[in-house]
Amino acid sequence: MSPKKKTKIYILDTSAILSGKSINLDDGEILTTTGVTKEISPGGKDYFLYQVLLEKKLIIQSPTKDSIKKVDGVSLQTGDSSRLSYVDKEILALALDVKNEGNKPVIITDDYSIQNIAYTLKIEYIGINQQEITRKFKWIYQCRGCGKKFKQNISTCPVCGDKTKCIIFKMRTLKNKNDSKKKLKQ
Ligand SMILES: [Zn+2]
Repeated sequence: MSPKKKTKIYILDTSAILSGKSINLDDGEILTTTGVTKEISPGGKDYFLYQVLLEKKLIIQSPTKDSIKKVDGVSLQTGDSSRLSYVDKEILALALDVKNEGNKPVIITDDYSIQNIAYTLKIEYIGINQQEITRKFKWIYQCRGCGKKFKQNISTCPVCGDKTKCIIFKMRTLKNKNDSKKKLKQ
């Protein structure tokens, strides 16, 4: 006996909505967060795209506080925390909620930090305009003067007082990077 079929639920971030690219969403439901809808200004082309999605039964939902906390924790570990806006975190938290409800979330985003966290949380994602990240990465900060590395986002080195720069640290090639795309085309 096969297990109960999970509903595929696509979660769109602002870039996904504003891309205007047609996304084949016929095989699942589409969700976005209240925060995303606030980023779309009324009137104009952006709003039109958003209206089109609403007509396609875009559901607007807010994530649970527990999931936001979990995303906060993971983003601190991966070093993406300072790159994620609250709205970005909402997207990821909403995906976690969907997963916890026993359904299958797929985040549609071009944001590398969202993709990085999604990968860490074992949540599927699809890029729209850009290639999905093919490597998992971690951001760290390095002093331009003494070269000391810091996990947290600090702009001035506490050792020598020089400015820090952001570098990518610890890269690992992702397996099955095209899985999500193949699945979508089926
Ligand atoms: Zn230094």
